[in-house]
Amino acid sequence: MNKPLDGRALKGFEYQSVNPFDGKTLKTFDALTDPQLETRIAAAALCYHTWRTKTYAERAVIIARASKLMHERADELARIMTLEMGKRIGEARGEVEFSARILAYYAKNAERFLAPVKLNPTVGEAHMESSPIGIVFGVEPWNFPYYQLARVAGPHLMAGNVLLVKHAGCVPQCAIAFEKLLIDAGAPAGLYTNLLITHEQSDRVIDDARIKGVALTGSVAAGRSIAASAGRNIKTSSMELGGSDAFIVLEDADLDHAVKWAVWGRMYNTGQTCCAAKRFIVVDQIADAFLEKFRSALAALKPGDPLDEKTTLGPLSTESAVLQLQAQVDAAVAKGAKVILGGKRIDRPGAFMAPTILTDVKPGNPAFRDEFFGPVAMFFRVRNEDEAIALANDSDFGLGGSVFTKDVARGMRVASRVETGMMFINNIDWSDAELPFGGIKDSGYGRELGDMGIQQFVNKKLVRHAVMEAPV
Ligand code: NAP
Repeated sequence: MNKPLDGRALKGFEYQSVNPFDGKTLKTFDALTDPQLETRIAAAALCYHTWRTKTYAERAVIIARASKLMHERADELARIMTLEMGKRIGEARGEVEFSARILAYYAKNAERFLAPVKLNPTVGEAHMESSPIGIVFGVEPWNFPYYQLARVAGPHLMAGNVLLVKHAGCVPQCAIAFEKLLIDAGAPAGLYTNLLITHEQSDRVIDDARIKGVALTGSVAAGRSIAASAGRNIKTSSMELGGSDAFIVLEDADLDHAVKWAVWGRMYNTGQTCCAAKRFIVVDQIADAFLEKFRSALAALKPGDPLDEKTTLGPLSTESAVLQLQAQVDAAVAKGAKVILGGKRIDRPGAFMAPTILTDVKPGNPAFRDEFFGPVAMFFRVRNEDEAIALANDSDFGLGGSVFTKDVARGMRVASRVETGMMFINNIDWSDAELPFGGIKDSGYGRELGDMGIQQFVNKKLVRHAVMEAPV
């Protein structure tokens, strides 16, 4: 018997920390009252007036110190994450270290990225300068509880903005631990504020005139709602939404290499990654061999305690996540999909879903357009490269994708023809502080990380000086 572990099981609490491995409630938190929320917005507004005047070097002292603290606290931070959302401990530690690197990257490079750019008008001289815009409101998901926060904190704080952040309801302890990092690093009051707030309060934050930009990472449904609120208020926004990335294997691929990336690409973070490989599109000549190896590698994964380094399959983040995934698989099967591996939650306590492979998913099946946020792979067989590209592009999403071929020039050509924000050839090593991350279509707009990630919430101001008479 599986015990319900819904992240929102206890009525009345907006923020609940529930261990998805055993269903134990670790901590609950009330949402802020409206007066408490107002106090925090006012503190952020006040902080902005001084933070914006600081030099890059002064800002960097605090952000670099937060990075160092994050590195020093890696074990403790990783453990909180594993207990709260079930990420396997090795992956959790990796995420903390990467988040620390992102903070350090922006502490080091922000001034260079935002340096004035000289322009060449026909008369006089001009330049474009970058200045902060004010309070940025971030709304972030639970699947990378620290990395998502570092992706906004590093660039936007270094740019001179201040941040209010609403984290997901199931990771309040991670949210609080990240805020504490900044405070311990010497951040002035109001520089980075964690907000435990409801969706309705979040809407009011977006409506508030003191908030100048909105950054969401989350589902398409959240994107529609939050982008609409931002748009109604004519506020700049970035939307990092879902994906259903194609993993294309051409007939000349190194099969074993491709299968290893396929397993990692689908199963990392127990499949709960926006840019995970979700649709495996394999050219006929190599399809049977690929499927057999992929299937046996997924079947070999063993569920267990995510705190145990040896566990190869962790739980999903919450009970509701398993229920939703199971419902999606059932709906796919009802419309003709075949299950060739898994297909059900694992009969043991905790939010465990069996690694699953679906075949025969045809257009018209809801699964064909859905995002499976968990260990469920869809397998498609195609005749050739052109069919693979056409199928990859037949998606409402456009986040990332990958292509496996021994011919790198061919891989480059395929990458150029796939309509997404990111493409990877013979790997899916998605994230690097230096590389811009984001998508097109229903996967959203804007980019995080790299140089582009710091340009999102700055005023690009043109300044021109010319000695010239006014036209008559
Ligand atoms: P979600 O339900 O949209 O939640 C994400 C965040 O948005 C949470 O903080 C959530 O708060 C908040 N939220 C949702 N609806 C809201 C509303 N109407 N008003 C205010 N806040 C709202 O997404 P999820 O299921 O947790 O996360 C997984 C999704 O994120 C997937 O689709 C995944 O692909 C996507 N994702 C994208 C990227 C990327 O960079 N492109 C990265 C990671 C994840 P509550 O928890 O309180 O509801």
